[in-house]
Amino acid sequence: MTIATPTNQLSLSLLADASSRLEEALKYVSISEDALGRLKYPKASLSVSIPVRMDNGSLRIFQGYRVRYDDTRGPGKGGVRYHPHVTLDEVQSLAFWMTFKSAVMNLPFGGAKGGIALNPKELSRQELERLSRGYIDAIADFIGPDVDILAPDMYTNAMIMGWMMDQYSIIKRKVSPAVVTGKPIMMGGSQGRNTATATGAFYVISTLLPHFDLIPEQTTVAIQGFGKVGAALAELLAQAGYKVVAVSDSQGGIYCDRGLDIPSIRQYKNESRSIKAVYCEDTVCSIVEHEVLTNEELLALDVDVLIPAALENQITEANAHDISAKYIFEVANGPITSAADRILESKGIYVFPDILVNAGGVTVSYFEWVQNRSGMYWTLEEVHQHLKPKMVEEAKAIWKLSQEYDTSMRTAAYIHALNRLGEALDAKGTRDYYTNGKN
Ligand code: NAD
Repeated sequence: MTIATPTNQLSLSLLADASSRLEEALKYVSISEDALGRLKYPKASLSVSIPVRMDNGSLRIFQGYRVRYDDTRGPGKGGVRYHPHVTLDEVQSLAFWMTFKSAVMNLPFGGAKGGIALNPKELSRQELERLSRGYIDAIADFIGPDVDILAPDMYTNAMIMGWMMDQYSIIKRKVSPAVVTGKPIMMGGSQGRNTATATGAFYVISTLLPHFDLIPEQTTVAIQGFGKVGAALAELLAQAGYKVVAVSDSQGGIYCDRGLDIPSIRQYKNESRSIKAVYCEDTVCSIVEHEVLTNEELLALDVDVLIPAALENQITEANAHDISAKYIFEVANGPITSAADRILESKGIYVFPDILVNAGGVTVSYFEWVQNRSGMYWTLEEVHQHLKPKMVEEAKAIWKLSQEYDTSMRTAAYIHALNRLGEALDAKGTRDYYTNGKN
């Protein structure tokens, strides 16, 4: 059985690539044709133009999107991305991944995603606020706490989520914190949401790497992307004893074989907006000799663990042959194309998929939504007490499926999600049910 991709859009490359991942998993899942048919198409895609009065008095029009891929298991859930490369195709594929991610984590959510095509670094804070509120003005009827819930993604943060929640509340004339997660704590945000994706990835890494007899102190790590997730995960790994030898951002990367002092690099980056290698011995930290790397070079480093934590499509057919790491944990969404996946598999490289590895973010978003709706707020300890067992349980379940069927972890994750999605879709009625098994 193969899954087709929608034919009613102009550019489908990303979504086609994303949904092609299902084909392998479908060999191991008994899912009805009807359920599969439902998963071929995004449920709803909205494209909007957002007029923004710029600081210099001019009016600029931005292109924005919101896609609800599937909501069979609950309201749509997914982040909003601000990036020049945002397209409807990209947002659809990210919403597709969110559908499977929510199912992998057994959250009562479907999958959604949003984005605006822009370079946020070119806008003033006032312009960003007007744009964020304008986006909500444009999509307010498409979203809601029981319909489709927003969250941060690339180049969006807690403050932007706060503006969005505020704007939605103004439009609806009632305070509606549950429409957006990842908000500032004082506006109903959850403790631990800002580091949830990194913390969840850390729990997955700590659960799965012991299967390969890897000891943190002897494990080298390279991380592409030093943003909200990449930097926080680098710090957690370094604290646990892993040797983080390389990190990068959009400007390029740094490498130091002694291991980098991540907190100092974060501090340096916050102050200077660039990264420099810092090494610490005891309490004396200093900027040290380091190699400057391009992002391509970082991806090809001979390390044990490679963590793409920036953009999608970073490892493709063109560079998959150059990858030397033995284990790749996908923190970014879709950093490896399906063609590259096959090359990595043939090289014996283990890939741990995005829909599990970065699912800590959506899981704590779910906790935030629960807190907003109940009006009871949790401590950071309570958040971690709920997050850790959930990440460990689903990581173990997917590992077990991969062993049982002798498949990649990606295929096992899709099997896991497809089983849950298929069951939910079929609960509304199957062909067999309506025809008494006669058709
Ligand atoms: P962010 O905007 O905070 O950081 C992105 C980082 O990537 C920055 O350091 C940026 O400099 C770097 N970068 C941008 N272009 C690059 C390039 N061409 N090469 C190398 N580095 C580049 O974003 P984030 O929230 O940390 O998200 C990173 C990834 O994780 C994205 O793929 C996002 O979809 C995924 N993700 C994020 C969350 C979350 O909770 N924030 C949850 C799940 C998945």
